[in-house]
Amino acid sequence: MKQKITIAIDGFSSTGKSTIAKQLAKNLGYIYVDTGAMYRAVTLYAMQQNYISDSHFNPEELVTNLYKISLSFKFNEELGFAEMYLNNTNVEATIRTIEVSRLVSKVATISEVRKKLVSEQQEMGKNKGIVMDGRDIGTVVFKNAELKLFMTASADKRATRRYKELLDRGDKVNYAEILHNVQERDRIDSTREDSPLVRADDAIEFDNSDMGLKEQFDRIMSLVNMRL
Ligand code: C5P
Repeated sequence: MKQKITIAIDGFSSTGKSTIAKQLAKNLGYIYVDTGAMYRAVTLYAMQQNYISDSHFNPEELVTNLYKISLSFKFNEELGFAEMYLNNTNVEATIRTIEVSRLVSKVATISEVRKKLVSEQQEMGKNKGIVMDGRDIGTVVFKNAELKLFMTASADKRATRRYKELLDRGDKVNYAEILHNVQERDRIDSTREDSPLVRADDAIEFDNSDMGLKEQFDRIMSLVNMRL
């Protein structure tokens, strides 16, 4: 049997990390973990408990009650990927709304939140055979990953992708608001003190502004094969 590796994919918002990660995991028979979904689920919990809104944030209360948050992924055979559950409720659709997107980067600055999620992520990947995407996978979660990718694309391309995704889901969306959200999240994610979004020294950068999915996938698969 071939040896299994760890693949870490980081990068800016809406660079198509999850699309490529899902495809890689499927092709290799690996587990796929969308760590953004975990930060989004914690944010949803904080919104439900009124610890955070557009006008206030009480990080201390969130930290005190972190132990009440249980996150899990359950594979949906029909969709072909794992959906996010928050305290045993499927929150896959709710965590993708613009309301959660507006607040998630603030929640992701809190070190205690990061500590909890990073340790859960490391546990999921302890046997390798995993593709994980996020912002700190190659720099913090799996510093020794055999393959690290760093995805970039122009802000306009990224906002257009996210806009189409939300439209397809039937959400009411406004392009300018989405562009603003993508840029604002990148700013907060790149400048926060704990685990800022930076390219790991040994990560391979991929600008996919003008690259089709097939070309990206083929290029990345050849990098994977070189490491197997
Ligand atoms: O990947 P996605 O865009 O769904 O991530 C939502 C947010 O979660 C990011 O903008 C970032 O603030 C946070 N995040 C993070 N670290 C990760 C994954 C996501 O801080 N590993």
